[in-house]
Amino acid sequence: MNRRRFLESSTALLSAGALGAHAATGLKPAAKPGGKYRLIATEEAFSIPEQADEFRRIAKIAYSNPDLEMWRGFLDPAPNAPPLLRRLLDLEGERIQIMDQAGVDMHLLSLTSPGVQMFDTETATSLAMIANDRLAEVIQKHPKRFAGLASFAPQDPKRAAREIDRAMNQLKLNGLIVNSHTNAEYLDEGKYWPIFEAAVATNAAIYIHPRNMPDPCSFMTRAAVNLAGALWGFQMETGLHAMRLIVSGVFDQFPTLKIVLGHMGEGLPFWPYRIDYMYKAYTHGHPNLKKTPSEYLKENFVITTSGMNDHKVLKYCVDALGPDNVIFAIDYPYQDMVESANFVNTSPLPEADNEKIAHGTSERLFHIRPADVS
Ligand code: MN
Repeated sequence: MNRRRFLESSTALLSAGALGAHAATGLKPAAKPGGKYRLIATEEAFSIPEQADEFRRIAKIAYSNPDLEMWRGFLDPAPNAPPLLRRLLDLEGERIQIMDQAGVDMHLLSLTSPGVQMFDTETATSLAMIANDRLAEVIQKHPKRFAGLASFAPQDPKRAAREIDRAMNQLKLNGLIVNSHTNAEYLDEGKYWPIFEAAVATNAAIYIHPRNMPDPCSFMTRAAVNLAGALWGFQMETGLHAMRLIVSGVFDQFPTLKIVLGHMGEGLPFWPYRIDYMYKAYTHGHPNLKKTPSEYLKENFVITTSGMNDHKVLKYCVDALGPDNVIFAIDYPYQDMVESANFVNTSPLPEADNEKIAHGTSERLFHIRPADVS
């Protein structure tokens, strides 16, 4: 696929709906947040100039990769494209104004995909530290509006583990983000387990956020079709990562490890019967697990509503996984804040469940101070 075609399809798809009704218009004066529930949004992307500069540097290389094409689109947007990079780099201006308009109390911020995972080890390791320092600074300035997930560079698992310890214990960040695979490798491989050891030791949940698949198969991008990005490929790839963790026995080794998946669980809540059945019925060469795959899904995973403002699916997921395992997320600036806030405020579920979805579970999972505690 040529670059222009890719950009037209992937950037447009990724950013479809990002702006919504309030986007192109001037912003109204900030109102006080005052939605029905305290809303903590948990998959909210930001960038820092240093991350953008690194992508600018590698964007000049004659190399094509779907994540790099996505960033080429951010750096060199089409005339009518949404201002994604501007919104990613902004924390204290337009973002807080839109939060106020939407009644969103807090963003749990994370460095936007693919984070530091396309860079060489040294660059990735130091960039993660810079991003975490920056996050801690803005949280300190706005403790009621921001919390943050720490980045780390899986390229060097031992240093990643040290950064996790620093981010959780010194910077007091709220959990961890990883943008799925790193150089086509997944975290179930033993060499990455120092990351899980550090996450468990610091009680840090790991949000596995999508990125493009390492090598989109030709059948995903053939002819006029591009399914490799957020339209379909992201959820396949991130769901694959989660399944690798389950089936490889990671949760028998780390029974208290908590993994967070966006987009209502990347499809997995739909599959427990078939996965359990096939796991028991046939030998696939996997280790013998202590539990069924679906038990790990219920016990070790929390899912978020990012980019899935659909009450039917919300009801189903709360029924399938329990009301303590589904939490609110928007996916700003790729999704619309006002629509996402309304989605929770109009949820048909019982009030007690909505309180958990809106803020209760994320306060517990991400060590966020409840609103009524000063
Ligand atoms: Mn996202």
